[in-house]
Amino acid sequence: MPHFPRLKSLIDVDVAIIGGGITGITAAYLLSKAGKKVALLEKEILCSGATGLTTAFLTQSVDTDFSELVEMYGTRKASAIAKSHQYAVDRVEDIIRKNKIDCEFVRCSNYSYALDENDAEDLQDETKVMKELGIKARFKEDNKLKFENQGYIEIPRQAKFHPLKYLSALSKITSANGAQIFEKTEVKEIRGNGPYALKTPSGEVYAQQIIVATYAPFNKKMYFKKAFYDTYVFELKVRKGILKEGIYEDTMDPYHYFRVDRKGTYDRIIIGGEDHRSDIPVNDSKNFQALKQYIKQVFPDIRYRIIRKWDGPIVEPVDGLAYIGPHKDKNIFYATGFSGNGMTYGTLAAHIITNEILGKADAQIRKFASVYDARRMPTFKQLMHKGKDYTRELFHGAVRNSLKYEKGKA
Ligand SMILES: Cc1cc2nc3c(=O)[nH]c(=O)nc-3n(C[C@H](O)[C@H](O)[C@H](O)COP(=O)(O)OP(=O)(O)OC[C@H]3O[C@@H](n4cnc5c(N)ncnc54)[C@H](O)[C@@H]3O)c2cc1C
Repeated sequence: MPHFPRLKSLIDVDVAIIGGGITGITAAYLLSKAGKKVALLEKEILCSGATGLTTAFLTQSVDTDFSELVEMYGTRKASAIAKSHQYAVDRVEDIIRKNKIDCEFVRCSNYSYALDENDAEDLQDETKVMKELGIKARFKEDNKLKFENQGYIEIPRQAKFHPLKYLSALSKITSANGAQIFEKTEVKEIRGNGPYALKTPSGEVYAQQIIVATYAPFNKKMYFKKAFYDTYVFELKVRKGILKEGIYEDTMDPYHYFRVDRKGTYDRIIIGGEDHRSDIPVNDSKNFQALKQYIKQVFPDIRYRIIRKWDGPIVEPVDGLAYIGPHKDKNIFYATGFSGNGMTYGTLAAHIITNEILGKADAQIRKFASVYDARRMPTFKQLMHKGKDYTRELFHGAVRNSLKYEKGKA
């Protein structure tokens, strides 16, 4: 990543963006391109938050099943959710092409696979719902995935990329567009009712509008956040061609996900899962052991070498959808609650908020904005739906791992 100075003075801008991950950098890029005077303030260095830890699937196959989203939000909204994520995948590709960014962007299929027959039946039902919502999904039972499964959904034209290569280039372009980017600059407080004063230990920014792109808002008690989750990841080196290139997830609760990348003389698999609430004290090593066990179960014949392992935070919203836009004050915009879909949500949030700041009347983006409105109140039915999911996840993941594995063995 390129490096930027610490804020050391008093500056005046149209829009101040707090947080230098995919959401903040994309918003800074779009606004500076449109001629706005922008300051981007990052407390550490760019992409030191969740964006630096991501596995970077770009997909409309979101964490909550579409059959559930239809029950919770109805067909019209569920269809808009599906379209909004595909819109975000396409926008990332547009930005890459327009700016000729070399960042390993590859169009590929998303595969949701079932390891048992009951889950395969559910996937068949899910495929029908997806098709009704306009997703080009197909249920398949062939051997093309090259590992044992009971059936899978294939969604074509999804994508994967290297987010840091993408955002490194985008932040340089954004800076060249005239946006002022500051690192090691933590916003401690927002004062005023517009224009606003953003206080940092080394300087101050005055702004007409603010985007809070800090993953979870730092300045607000978040009633819309269910919890922080931890997710665990291994990067593996394997022999070339043993699996199809693509992005994959299973149907378990908590679920597992992996991507297969072609790398010159070998292939890389980045595989993750075993998510649990961060406030539940489960020793990390037990979750890594569970993930290793899963690799053994699904790929019994594949020989691999572990290159790296890490874990990272996921912000889960109470009702399964991100919160994007103003909350109480119409000039302070939020973007949070992205679950495991923040590459698309972050891109989408940047487009929705930019559209609003620039006063554009793009009907499609306005429709997306209404679905993710940060002022909405979740209904009892929506809370119950997600509540059931989260409870299942807890007992099949964190609690099981805690009882089954020994501390410090991963
Ligand atoms: C292991 C893992 C795998 C994932 N896999 C996927 C995936 O395959 N596909 C997908 O779509 N999503 C995935 N996600 C989710 C996705 O990575 C995140 O949702 C996304 O990166 C969030 O981007 P962001 O810009 O909103 O937040 P962040 O990247 O967290 O950026 C927020 C920034 O704000 C800064 N900040 C915080 N407070 C302040 C302050 N007061 N002042 C100044 N700066 C501040 C932080 O330092 C940070 O750099 C994954 C996440 C993890 C952890």
